[in-house]
Amino acid sequence: MIDIKIANSIHAATDTTRNVVSVDVHSRKKKISHDFKNKVAYSPLINAHDHLASNWSPRTGTRNTYINIHIWVEETKHSESYLERCKIWTNNGDFDLTTGNAKELVLLGMYKNIFSGVHIIHDHVKPQKPEYYGWFDIYVVPDFAYCKSISFLDLYNSISPEDEMKKSKGIVPFIIHLAEGVDNTSIQEFDILLQKDLLHRNTLIVHGIALERENLKKIAEAKASVCWCPGSNMSLYRKTLDVPTAIKEGVNITIGTDSTISGGGNLFDEIRHAKRTYPDIPTKLIYEMVTKNAETALLLYDNNLLDNRKNLLILDKKHDDVYENLLYQDVENIDLLIHQSKPIYGNLNYFEDFELQVDSYEIIKVGNKEKFIIGKPTQILQKINEILGYKKNFPYLPF
Ligand SMILES: [Zn+2]
Repeated sequence: MIDIKIANSIHAATDTTRNVVSVDVHSRKKKISHDFKNKVAYSPLINAHDHLASNWSPRTGTRNTYINIHIWVEETKHSESYLERCKIWTNNGDFDLTTGNAKELVLLGMYKNIFSGVHIIHDHVKPQKPEYYGWFDIYVVPDFAYCKSISFLDLYNSISPEDEMKKSKGIVPFIIHLAEGVDNTSIQEFDILLQKDLLHRNTLIVHGIALERENLKKIAEAKASVCWCPGSNMSLYRKTLDVPTAIKEGVNITIGTDSTISGGGNLFDEIRHAKRTYPDIPTKLIYEMVTKNAETALLLYDNNLLDNRKNLLILDKKHDDVYENLLYQDVENIDLLIHQSKPIYGNLNYFEDFELQVDSYEIIKVGNKEKFIIGKPTQILQKINEILGYKKNFPYLPF
């Protein structure tokens, strides 16, 4: 157990009278002494919707705006960006991410998340072989029922959504893209969901752009959840979920980045997008959307996983209000990120304090600071560059 003395902390394990955060770290040292005067501690963030293998760049799409996701998907298949991604790994129809170079792709996606303070994510892809979920240094939700789309079932789903829901037994989340667009197809999807009896407490609707007040009321009554992806939505549709109405109706809302190929950023960007879209939403509530609301939506009840004595995010203090402070963050402002007692990213001074193993980390330059990062992200990027034959830039990587 290490005690970190820190001012203005909102970390749940904080003793506010002493301003001390206690955290377990796999280290022989018991105390660390730094100047935390300009730092704030938080619970690490949760990204409730990503597609790890699709964090390619630039985003695809030739139109100014789309009416539904299916048009964009068809267009994307022929886009330069997607075809470039396919040089690293091509889906042969099975979407098995344990084949070929998919591991490099999904680990890039993991780093996108780590570099925005995230330690738990949902990767919305067909459930993978168990070994897949062991690759990551953060928690990628392994148990869920999956439905890609309710309007184009034959195209995307090998198991019917009804059978997926049955399989979930109500104890793992049933996660479905729904109402992602502004046309009639998108509007009607909620009625299909009801007809198929798929709205339950464990239902997590992703996007919900076309949802109306009556729909949101039913979602709240069912105690289901909606994942809001403002960045991706605004870039594809110039419209997003009606969050103020959803809040009024009592819907549990969480936030997801979606993938960068559809226009999402990292979770710090999404927090800014959320606030920019609806400035009246308190930033405290946005923080809850990326922490405790996400726990509810993803049915994360594992006390060990969520234990605040094992997880910690320390950010630079850029604003006096600890919640507003989240709007000013970027990859260089992460002082320390600990997941399950393992430091995964942070300033170099902790590297020595925690006596971390050199073999398990890389040292990288971020802005004018040196940081340690778990794994070998620069080697992954190098491999991708070798396959492509040129240097590829990803906006979410600091190198
Ligand atoms: Zn998605």
